[in-house]
Amino acid sequence: MNILSYMEAHGHEQLAVWTDREAGLRAFIAVHDTTLGPSLGGVRVWNHPTEEAALMDVLRLSQAMTYKSAAAGLHFGGGKGLIMADRTQKSEAMMRSFGRFVESLGGRYLATEDVGMASQDLEWMAQSTRHVTGLPVSQGGSGDTSPMTGYGIYMAMRACARGRWGGDSLSGRTIAIQGFGNTAAWLARNLQEHGEEVKLVITDINEAARERARQVKNATVVSPEQVYDTPCDIFAPCALGGVLNDDTIPRLRCQVVCGSANNQLLAPEHGDALQKRGILYAPDYIVNAGGVINISCEVGVKYSEASAREKTARIYDTMQRVIAIAKGDGVSTAKAADRLAEERLAVVRKVRRVYVGRTY
Ligand code: NAD
Repeated sequence: MNILSYMEAHGHEQLAVWTDREAGLRAFIAVHDTTLGPSLGGVRVWNHPTEEAALMDVLRLSQAMTYKSAAAGLHFGGGKGLIMADRTQKSEAMMRSFGRFVESLGGRYLATEDVGMASQDLEWMAQSTRHVTGLPVSQGGSGDTSPMTGYGIYMAMRACARGRWGGDSLSGRTIAIQGFGNTAAWLARNLQEHGEEVKLVITDINEAARERARQVKNATVVSPEQVYDTPCDIFAPCALGGVLNDDTIPRLRCQVVCGSANNQLLAPEHGDALQKRGILYAPDYIVNAGGVINISCEVGVKYSEASAREKTARIYDTMQRVIAIAKGDGVSTAKAADRLAEERLAVVRKVRRVYVGRTY
């Protein structure tokens, strides 16, 4: 793989590499774009089979963060950290060393939690850098992001309902949820708290999660494979990436796809495939921005849950804009979301060139 050509082609600014043999650490930080502000993104702990696979992952994920923050109207760029390790190999020494790595970038990258990380790891990291976000509320951070992410999925679903059926209400609809973890549980709670009389069809690969799902009002539990063939109004992928692909899209029996999972489309053309099937796809990074919006409410200010909620509610308006751009330009909603993000980046780039110059 030619890394520099890949980075040039995708607009990446920087890729940093760090090793610390004593701490057992091999890590990367990718800074994709800092036009809107310092790059923000989670640190993933994952034992990729090759360095190349790890590099591709961190580069791809950092770009996705640029789009997520730009479309959500946040003043952050996109970045991502990656520790090449199994989660059982994590240690205080490793996290403190990664913190020094973050600190060495002087604030160009703000770290937070991602797959494989726990709040204890963030706390260790914060011993060697100021540039850590999402610490527990007891330590001045904004804490767990999943409640706000769950609320954001709910608001995106309401916007999709308006776009598809002409009204916000979800009552009377059947929603099939894939993966009943943190974000899906908060989605279910929001549906209930807002008085939406929905039927839920839930699946999970984990028996404990399936048992939790059985306790939810009006919910039935199906096997993981069945969920794609389930007749429903909304399919909500809340587990893994890549679940919208050549095999699954022809099987879907829904009118809307709207869920929290990152990178739901296996490849960009799957956004067009959903459009061709007449399914309204809510782009994942629009839907699941509640987490990063929550973090934005602690950077430089004292965290306020009320402010995070108010900003997360705007996901409804963003989703409506995406639907409008898709209709107006005759493109898929996936492309429309990219256009929304790219337009904001282009505008701010111009302003910076004229009035501010390069900040970073
Ligand atoms: P989680 O780990 O709490 O829940 C995921 C659930 O999916 C688990 O219960 C797991 O058993 C289940 N699962 C895994 N593979 C499955 C499969 N093949 N079929 C059915 N179920 C399966 O994770 P979460 O925090 O709810 O996040 C879910 C998704 O949303 C992830 O893709 C995550 O990256 C994304 N996301 C989360 C947040 C957040 O605030 N937590 C923010 C943005 C995006």
